[in-house]
Amino acid sequence: MRVLGIETSCDDTGIAVYDGDRGLLAHRRYSQIALHLEYGGVVPELASRDHIRKTLPMVRRVLEEAGTGPGEIGGVAYTSGPGLAGALLVGAALGRALAFAWGVPAVGVHHMEGHLLSPLLEPGGPAFPFLALLVSGGHTLLADVRGVGDYAILGESIDDAAGEAFDKTAKLLGLGYPGGPAIEKAALDGRPGRFHFPRPMTDRPGLDFSFSGLKTACVHAVSGQEGVLDSRTIADIAAAFQEAVIDTLTIKCDRALETTGHERLVVAGGVSANALLRRRLKDLGDRRRVAVHYPRLELCTDNGAMIAYAGYLRLTAGQHEPLGFGARPRWRLTDLPAVSG
Ligand code: ATP
Ligand code: FE
Repeated sequence: MRVLGIETSCDDTGIAVYDGDRGLLAHRRYSQIALHLEYGGVVPELASRDHIRKTLPMVRRVLEEAGTGPGEIGGVAYTSGPGLAGALLVGAALGRALAFAWGVPAVGVHHMEGHLLSPLLEPGGPAFPFLALLVSGGHTLLADVRGVGDYAILGESIDDAAGEAFDKTAKLLGLGYPGGPAIEKAALDGRPGRFHFPRPMTDRPGLDFSFSGLKTACVHAVSGQEGVLDSRTIADIAAAFQEAVIDTLTIKCDRALETTGHERLVVAGGVSANALLRRRLKDLGDRRRVAVHYPRLELCTDNGAMIAYAGYLRLTAGQHEPLGFGARPRWRLTDLPAVSG
């Protein structure tokens, strides 16, 4: 089956075509970063309106790039939550309408299930079961994954997500948005040892995370400096911050692998693009003889490919939506139906 995927949950428009036999045929991403820049954050109404402008032309283009006519599309998948209600409704309305017009089934996909399953769309992707670390702008969680829709949350952030901490710290250091890549770049020139930040919640049992204290530690480091921050100090703080977040994530993965006994670790979400995180988890995997899997770099942040793929798995299992559609701005990963087999 060939599936069109539509992602509009926040400030990225993502469109893709996934084919069950041939894999990902084409995908495009459009980022609204420039649109929201002057407001210092995503403006929901502007996001929705821009998705309206971008989605349909992008669908035409991606179908063309995939060498696919609408007649070859067997189903349509759109993100139905979690995310911004208005933005989600744009993708849901378009996805549902196209599926109706083409006479094919439609399915609403959980955005985090999209991230979670994205490493599986690659050839040689991991088999179930596995441990998953989801690290994105809105989520940081460890899950025991037994199959599609069969998820148990082992731990999650009690405050800020890891990506959110990267974004807030980058803002504090004047490094711009999105903060993850900016901190990663600045940290390359950072000297280790000048600053040391805590590894939150690693000194007690459990798999939950907390990143808001780390952000506060950076605020103190900045306010402890006299005058305007110089680029060396910015680099040193960025490096110490990145080190602390990644060390914390690695410690918790190690602990979760120990308790679950899983032999595969899947890491997804925007922060999984981070090179230092990938290096540290590779070392952990080598030490524990655990295979570590990621999405390809361009599929770490929001994209349509992960929605097309998760939709493909659910549609081929017989799941689809009635003619009505809606958005689920708040939707827990553990509320999804499991796909048997
Ligand atoms: P969610 O998926 O939880 O709803 P989101 O869709 O906004 O949130 P993603 O698109 O998966 O999140 O990821 C974006 C986040 O990833 C941002 O917080 C960004 O700073 C972070 N990020 C991107 N690249 C990197 C990197 N190289 N290092 C660290 N963080 C990164
Ligand atoms: Fe996301």
